[in-house]
Amino acid sequence: MILYDLKCADGHRFEAGLASMFDDNPRCRCGAETSRVPASVRQLGTADTGRSREEMPTTWRGIQQGHPDVVRGWHREMSRREKLEEKHPELAGDRRPVLAHEGAFEGRPLRAGDPLATKVAQATFGTTKEATA
Ligand SMILES: [Zn+2]
Repeated sequence: MILYDLKCADGHRFEAGLASMFDDNPRCRCGAETSRVPASVRQLGTADTGRSREEMPTTWRGIQQGHPDVVRGWHREMSRREKLEEKHPELAGDRRPVLAHEGAFEGRPLRAGDPLATKVAQATFGTTKEATA
């Protein structure tokens, strides 16, 4: 997750988290296209978004066999993260269910609602061009 400062043609500025520097900029809430602006210098410390949901342990070993302090710590941290994502939905990332993530989709998981022909073409031929079907 990379945080970018974005600005639309109407001058609205906001911050958004993108999974990759090659991702398209999200549109402004007014609907206009946005461009990236150099991050401003923060004078009063930096904002810490904490760890993301992807970093949350998913195994028994990951939470040290259910150690209460580890579980409590993750619960506290993820509760904080959830509140942050409610306030800044762009930090939540793509939460659509993953339909396929193996084989051809290893690099770019297929998610519910994705245009199937385009995703298969990308996974198979590595093209990033949108299919026109
Ligand atoms: Zn705008």
